[in-house]
Amino acid sequence: MTNQKVKGRFAPTPSGFMHLGNIFCCLLAWLSAKAKNGSIVLRIEDLDTVRCPRKNADRLAADLEWLGLTWDEGAYTGNTSETFFQSKRFDIYKQYFEKLQAQKFVYPCFCSRNELHAVNAPHLSDGRLIYPGTCYRLSLTERLEKEKNRRPAYRLHVPDKDIIFTDGNYGPQTFNLAKENGDFIVRRSDGVYAYQLAVTVDDALMGITEVVRGWDLLSSSPLQIYLYSLLGFKTPSFTHIPLLVAPDGRRLAKRDHDKDLEILKQQYSSPEPIIGYLAYLAGQLNKPEPITAVDLLKIYNPSLIPTHNIVVPSQLPKLS
Ligand code: GLU
Repeated sequence: MTNQKVKGRFAPTPSGFMHLGNIFCCLLAWLSAKAKNGSIVLRIEDLDTVRCPRKNADRLAADLEWLGLTWDEGAYTGNTSETFFQSKRFDIYKQYFEKLQAQKFVYPCFCSRNELHAVNAPHLSDGRLIYPGTCYRLSLTERLEKEKNRRPAYRLHVPDKDIIFTDGNYGPQTFNLAKENGDFIVRRSDGVYAYQLAVTVDDALMGITEVVRGWDLLSSSPLQIYLYSLLGFKTPSFTHIPLLVAPDGRRLAKRDHDKDLEILKQQYSSPEPIIGYLAYLAGQLNKPEPITAVDLLKIYNPSLIPTHNIVVPSQLPKLS
């Protein structure tokens, strides 16, 4: 039996400053790979080039370095750096999109957002709408007619099939593609390839063996597992980690500016108090105390990571 070397990844979307939630995710992905003597790839998820200017990615890479969250391959390393920016990989996504198209798994969808919300389609608990399959049922004549007026998005048709997998933190999962998601977009009407396709192709081609990311993406994993199977790729393992939330329960996000690394860096002159606080939130320390990522690795225990959302107080405790 060959023992494949573990390869994890940081896959940030550089749409602003890094905040505690992003760092939490990178820290746990780093610990998970490094604890198994594995390596880390840095991939910049800047598919949305307007929201993700290069200067944000530059700052993000510098911040990861400052935090001691090193990577072994990817953006900002060696002469292949540029190939780890999703904005530079459209030709690759096109190739795999065409592969799906050739197998007749994708079809053009002309529905606008407003039309979709007007129909009585079932909604999931998180408010997402299950696509009712309107354009899947169009005849060729109807398609050609609609094409005259609108550039379509492309959806992947999914079967009524259960995807079963075991999440590294949340345990066994069963997810029905048709009932719990429905046909999903793989290329947007503006020609940009969608997250699900890009991330699957990238993780596969970059040889990622384990995906560690926020709980909000747990429901994306079955879609990606399905794509892995259609494209003939080997599926990595998936581990989702709890979200950091504000005291009112909403997800910590860009608007919580006081949790931006830029502000935290002014408060603490070194990364250790920030790493220590996140380690405490991740169940790795009994109290928040300064520690480096490398020292944390020595005591890292993934079974202590909680599964519930983690509340971050509006006023962070004194950390050093
Ligand atoms: N780029 C996504 C984010 O920053 C993460 C995607 C993934 O890990 O699959 O939220």
